[in-house]
Amino acid sequence: MILKSTLDGLASVLFAAPCRICDQALTNASRIPICETCLAGFRRIADPMCHCCGRPFVSAVAAESVQALCRLCRLDFYAFDRARSFAIYDDALSEAVVLLKYEQVTRLGVWFADRLAEIVRQAPDEWQADIVVPVPLHMERQRERGYNQAELIARPLAKRLNLRLETALLVRTKPRPAQLVLSRTEHWKSVRGAYATWEGRKVDNVRVLLVDDVLTTGATLDACARALKKAGASVILGLTVGRVRSWTNPPAAAGRRGKTNTQGKPDEHPEHQ
Ligand SMILES: [Zn+2]
Ligand SMILES: [Zn+2]
Repeated sequence: MILKSTLDGLASVLFAAPCRICDQALTNASRIPICETCLAGFRRIADPMCHCCGRPFVSAVAAESVQALCRLCRLDFYAFDRARSFAIYDDALSEAVVLLKYEQVTRLGVWFADRLAEIVRQAPDEWQADIVVPVPLHMERQRERGYNQAELIARPLAKRLNLRLETALLVRTKPRPAQLVLSRTEHWKSVRGAYATWEGRKVDNVRVLLVDDVLTTGATLDACARALKKAGASVILGLTVGRVRSWTNPPAAAGRRGKTNTQGKPDEHPEHQ
């Protein structure tokens, strides 16, 4: 018995799991398989950014304009009212999202929820909400995986903000196409009309805080926002952990108008699959 526990102790020292991002041995006991340095190193998104969709501005000039809105938000393109993300979806953050998505590291979901709660607390008036809703997976996908990674973030976030979590309000009615890589246009098409409220549930005048892991084009949040507004919701606020750096090509306006986006790059980090 003593020998066994000694061996266990030795093994835990010798084979301690390294940080999943930088491979350094983990010294913290937080049960998040990412070291403190890497956790502190995610590239947080800060001003200047579009006041509405949170798209980071490259130049300060755009941010200095009166409304500080990106081209799409000036056209009132998105159905959601506001969106923000914690950090740029780079290699490090994508490693972390993989842990949420495929390994159900709930502690990491809590850590991300804390970061999103910080965004809310910085501007409480702008982030007033009644309920928290995770972007749902298609039922088949959820059955396969056994859980919804967006819920791993939304549940602790709702708790932090003292709001009700609604996991049975929104459903994904259309499955994601089987192909792994989608162009931007295909991506917009694949989520358009893909969400609905459960059995026509109404949410009249409700302010919804929508939560997802990654924002790529905004198509997913947009499609969810349309379904929720159709059901009566008054305001849709979106929060995601990661945000894919926007390409220089202006995004899906082309897709929305039914044109082919010939220059659309493959979507390497599809939203919410
Ligand atoms: Zn590390
Ligand atoms: Zn914008």
